[in-house]
Amino acid sequence: MTGCLLMFDGFHITKKARKVGNEVGGICREHSPNFDVSLKDIPTLQKLAQAVHVTKTCHYGTEATVFSLGPLRKENYHAVPVIISPSCKAETHPELAEVIQLIIAVYNVYGKPYLGPMLFSSSDGDPVYRGAQHIIFMCTIPEIGSYLYIDLSSLVGFNMQCAKDGQVSAPDTKHIVKRTSIFCTIVFED
Ligand SMILES: [Zn+2]
Repeated sequence: MTGCLLMFDGFHITKKARKVGNEVGGICREHSPNFDVSLKDIPTLQKLAQAVHVTKTCHYGTEATVFSLGPLRKENYHAVPVIISPSCKAETHPELAEVIQLIIAVYNVYGKPYLGPMLFSSSDGDPVYRGAQHIIFMCTIPEIGSYLYIDLSSLVGFNMQCAKDGQVSAPDTKHIVKRTSIFCTIVFED
C-alpha cells in the first residue's frame, strides 16, 4: 500500500431537486442540514420547497464539489469519486476545512486499511478551496528527524508545513503557473 491522494474540484450543475435514495438531493450542503430532506410525506416536501422558493433560507446547489481518491500505485491508479456534494457557494473556507477533516477522519477508518495513508491533497485555485487546504495542510511542521522532515527539507524553495497527520498540500501546478503569469502581466504591464 503506497498511499492515496485526495482531490476535489467544483462542477457546475443544473439547479434542480433530485431523488437520491429516500431523500431530496440537489439542495445545498450549507443550509440543507437545517431542514428535513427526507421523502416521507407531502408537508415535509412543501416545507422544503417553501424554504427554497419563498424564504430563500435554503438553496439549490449551483455547483457540485466532487471529492475523489487517487491511489498512488502503478496500476488501477485512476481517480475514484467518493463524495459528490451540492453547494450554493455560501461556504467559507473554515467550513470547507471541517468537511475535509471529516473526510480524512472517515478515510483513516475505512480507506486507509486498503489504500494506505492519505499523503497529499490537491485542488485548483478557488480561494475557498485554497483557504481550506491552508488551514489543514499548513498547520504544523513535521518532527525533526522524521522521514517527512528529511524529504521536505531537501526541497529548496518549498516550505516545511504539513497537516498534523503529515499530509501535504499539492496544489495543481497548472493554476500556480496561471497565477504567476497573471501576476507578472500586472506587474510588468506598465
Ligand atoms: Zn445554501
